[in-house]
Parts: sequence; C-alpha cells; structure tokens
Amino acid sequence: MKTIDSLDVKGRRVLLRADLNVPLDGETITDDRRITASLPTIRALAERGARVVVCAHLGRPKGKVAPEFSLAPVAKRLGELLGAEVRFASDVVGDSARATAESLGDGEVALLENLRFEPGETSKDDAERGAFADKLAALAELYVGDGFGAVHRKHASVYDVPKRLPHAAGSLIAAEVEVLRRLTDELARPYVVVLGGAKVSDKLGVIANLLTKVDRLLIGGGMAYTFLAAQGHEVGRSLLQADQIDQVRGFLDEAARRDVELVLPVDVVAATHFAADAPHEVVEATAIPADREGLDIGPKTRELFAAKLADAATVFWNGPMGVFEFDAFAGGTRAVAEALVASKAFTVVGGGDSAAAVRRLGLPEDGFSHISTGGGASLEYLEGKTLPGLSALED
Ligand code: ADP
Ligand code: MG
Repeated sequence: MKTIDSLDVKGRRVLLRADLNVPLDGETITDDRRITASLPTIRALAERGARVVVCAHLGRPKGKVAPEFSLAPVAKRLGELLGAEVRFASDVVGDSARATAESLGDGEVALLENLRFEPGETSKDDAERGAFADKLAALAELYVGDGFGAVHRKHASVYDVPKRLPHAAGSLIAAEVEVLRRLTDELARPYVVVLGGAKVSDKLGVIANLLTKVDRLLIGGGMAYTFLAAQGHEVGRSLLQADQIDQVRGFLDEAARRDVELVLPVDVVAATHFAADAPHEVVEATAIPADREGLDIGPKTRELFAAKLADAATVFWNGPMGVFEFDAFAGGTRAVAEALVASKAFTVVGGGDSAAAVRRLGLPEDGFSHISTGGGASLEYLEGKTLPGLSALED
C-alpha cells in the first residue's frame, strides 16, 4: 500500500476521505477525537502544498439532505484545530462543491457536506455508485484514503473513487494496517484474545476465524452467558442468545480440537435487574439464580483473566466484560484493561464501546500499544474478510 509520500501533491487537488463521524449534541461536538486523529494527514498534505478537499460522512441520513447531519460544525472545529480556515461546501458534488474545490490555493483545506446526503455514496447498485463516484473524482486529481472506520464499506468514496484516481493511504490507515498485520501475519505468541460485549451474534465470524489463530480465548461480557448455557448451565435472566447455542457449542468443540484454551467466567456479579443501583452479589458462574442477571465478571474471574494475560506476547481485546456504563458493574472491564496496561505484550483495543470504556475508566491511553479508531473494520479484517477500502488502495 502506497503512502502519501509517493504522491506529488504540490499545487494539485487531493480528495481526502476521512473519518469525521463524531458524536453531536445539537451542533455541539461532544467528542472530537476523530477530528484530531485526522489532522496528521491533512496537515502533511497541506504542508506539501496540496489543495485538500476533505470528504466524510456523519451519521445515517440515508441518502437525503438532513440539516441535523450537516458537517458544518465539523468544518468549524477542524478549522480551529488546524489554525487555518476550512472552506465548507454546502453540497457534496454540486455547484458549491465544485466552486469550493476550484477556489483552493496551495496548502488550503475545504470540507464537503456529508457524503451520505447522496444516495450514490452507499448504493448497492454499482452503476448508481459509480455515477456518484465519477462526480466526486472530478473534484480532484488525486485521492488519499484515511477513513479507517469506513474501509469495510463498499461505498463510493471508499471503494470506487480510488479506482478512478491515483491514490495512496493516509497515516491513519497505514498505522491501522500495520497493527492488523501484527495481529495476523507477523504474530508474536502466545496470542491471547479477550472478547466481551453484548451480543455473541455480532462476533460469530470473528470467533470462528480467531479459533484458527489464537493460543487462548477469554470470553466475558454479555456473550459469555451463551457459552455458559451451551455448557448446560442456568444463566438466569442474563443476556442469552438461545438461537446461537448450537453454534457456540461448535466453537467449544473446535477449541478443544485445536488445543485452543477457551476460558469462561468462573464467577459473575448477578443483579436483580438491569439498573445502575440494582442490588447484586457475586455467584459461581455455574450457579446463577434463575431470577438474577449477570452484569459483570466476578473477582475470581478477574484474577483468572489477568493470569491468563500475564505471559502473552500479543493481546487483542474487544468488548467490555460487563455493563461498564454503571459503576457497580465496571470492575471486570477495569481489571482486564489494567491487565493490558500492565502487560509487556503488543496490546490492541478494538471496538467503539471498549475504547469508550478505557476513557470512562480513566485509564492512560498510552498504556495500550494501539486503540483502534474503527471497531467494525478491525473485526472484519480479523474475520479474514477482504475490506473494500483497503483492496482499492492496494491496487
Ligand atoms: P464494542 O463496541 O467494544 O465492540 P459491543 O458493542 O459488542 O462492544 O458491546 C458493548 C456493550 O456490551 C456495552 O454497552 C455493555 O454495557 C454491554 N455488556 C457487556 N456485558 C454485558 C452484560 N453482562 N449484560 C448486558 N450487557 C453487557
Ligand atoms: Mg459497540
């Protein structure tokens, strides 16, 4: 994959696909992390004299213009962070976009309106997507892909435009791909993966593929209860995906066959109901009362998981161990996060909620080797899928 150093950008319009999908409360950006993460590539291009036309999506406006999904507040914030004016086009590929792109001088930056206001961006119809990609590509002479959070989408700005323009990967994508290689091709062992989160069904594909790669798989969070149920245990009112039990039984067999150590909770924090102040107690994972709901892994499990992480050379963690949004049920997630911080291994955190948990619990972000900005994209890569946005940049 070529980096931006391979492009001669001076005086040329560069269409930069970034991930600026920030959470908004009205017009206030509540977390500008994705904007700050995009700055290095924007700056590098501008400093080399490129005329940078940034494009990105925000939320899911589903192909229609919707003011509440406008990128205008993002343009403003981007300008503040860059310390330079960011011209904002009030459409994606219309008169405003063309005029804005043409008005740029060397080293100047513009942002187009939300890509997803245009139905062509996400269309499953190749011709419709292609027609939109033609218009987008016409705004620039070169393309740089840096929106890692969107590379698993076969969208016009991610997949079709790099097929139309000379292209390269920005520093965010380059860094993510480097990390993912260290979790696949250039793996240091023992490789331990910790999975949690709400639904086992979201992660069936990644579990299946990881079972062929890992030395140890630790399962916590809501998905653990489907595993416990597959072993024949009562899980009370805990999160259970009964329709996945057969598949999960298959994973247990597969792990045994492949000599993968699959580690499940031995105790859980069981609450009377799903609430921040719900009365709760620690029970054995094999003896969850029928009227209780497991909302976190218990203290013995936290110690067990920390011990199973201690000798790892590579760790990938996706999915909180409990309902970390409630302080009373955040202990398990904290314990795993602290075990990663203490570890000398190459440690990677993937997943939006897992990254949010690291922040919420006040853990040092530099305590991890890498916190991925694109949960869905990382998981699909680890499932062994080809990511459209990466393959388009490789061609
Ligand atoms: P990520 O975004 O990191 O991939 P997920 O989206 O899969 O993670 O899951 C995150 C959610 O899982 C959190 O909102 C958390 O509250 C929930 N969760 C974790 N453990 C449990 C549990 N035992 N019961 C119910 N929900 C849980
Ligand atoms: Mg999530």
